[in-house]
Amino acid sequence: MKKQMKTQVWHVDKHVDEKTIYTQIVDAAHLIRQGEVVAFPTETVYGLGANALSEHAVEKIFEAKGRPSDNPLIVHISDLDQLPMVAREVPEQAERVMEVFWPGPLTLILPKQMDVAERVTAGLDTVGVRLPDHQLARALIRTAGVPVAAPSANRSGRPSPTTAQHVLVDLDGRIAGVVDGGSAGVGVESTVLDVTVDPPMILRPGGITFEQLKEVLSEVTVDPAIARDTEAPRSPGMKYAHYAPQGELWVVDGEPEPARERMLELLKSASEAGLKTGVLATRETADWWKQQPSAGLVLSCGADGDLSAVARELYACLRRFDEEQVAYIVAQAFPRSGLGAAIMNRLEKAAGGRVICV
Ligand code: AMP
Ligand code: MG
Repeated sequence: MKKQMKTQVWHVDKHVDEKTIYTQIVDAAHLIRQGEVVAFPTETVYGLGANALSEHAVEKIFEAKGRPSDNPLIVHISDLDQLPMVAREVPEQAERVMEVFWPGPLTLILPKQMDVAERVTAGLDTVGVRLPDHQLARALIRTAGVPVAAPSANRSGRPSPTTAQHVLVDLDGRIAGVVDGGSAGVGVESTVLDVTVDPPMILRPGGITFEQLKEVLSEVTVDPAIARDTEAPRSPGMKYAHYAPQGELWVVDGEPEPARERMLELLKSASEAGLKTGVLATRETADWWKQQPSAGLVLSCGADGDLSAVARELYACLRRFDEEQVAYIVAQAFPRSGLGAAIMNRLEKAAGGRVICV
């Protein structure tokens, strides 16, 4: 058992002025500078940050998360002037997307600068870099004075945290602290775009959609492994189980009527088998599900007509099933366009491939 440490919590009001924010995050920034790991909010999910230039500091992220060491981390910068500390060169197509989508939920794979710790990139010659669109995150990185490597602040394999409370459930006693700045906004992670290849390739769908990128770049491709489980993904992290609740999750994809019928069948047999059941529904469908005795715990996750709300609420819903010890969960599928591509990618991973097409 790893020695437990006291995890500090700093409550920070993100609506105060910049000077007040600095006074509130200065202790957290110093800890990062001293080589400790600290969780903090970003606009996507909560990140677990450490000095990206220190092997020893970065090692603590892998330890706290239980993360496989061949899964590289994304480096977060506070301002564009930190970019040369991380990336050796910035291709022209990278500049185009940076101009439009930074700060924001877009990670760019760039040629790596020597100073970045080997462990950050898992020995690769490239590095994932992002400028987050979150005042607290950027103030923290700026005050720490170093680029900050930060994966999601959850135990490896679990749903990503969108609140400081989620971080504490997974990592209390394992990290130096957490900056509590309220709920994360987007709710799913950044899009990972490889700009070292031509045309650029999406390695992981996320907060910036394919359609948005296509408007700026004349051509964008998508790693075929995202659609087909059989291919080896180009992004090392994509091959691992992720985002999974403790219960068995099934996703049913298809037209609303037959999908609902199939979901009901699954739930009936699970509840007959004595399992505690649950349904991941939406605001439009939740009331109907609540009338079905076999549905068990019905959680409404966003709305069919509002995918950004689904993204924002998805991980909290998955964690809520765990809190209620639901053993068998059935989820409806979402359209795969726009933000739906990221939502479905996370749901399919959370389900460990248990997707039924009707
Ligand atoms: P996470 O930190 O959990 O949000 O995951 C980071 C994602 O970015 C994983 O899917 C990594 O495999 C991917 N990633 C980070 N750095 C690189 C890189 N240099 N090349 C390819 N993928 C990367
Ligand atoms: Mg993660």
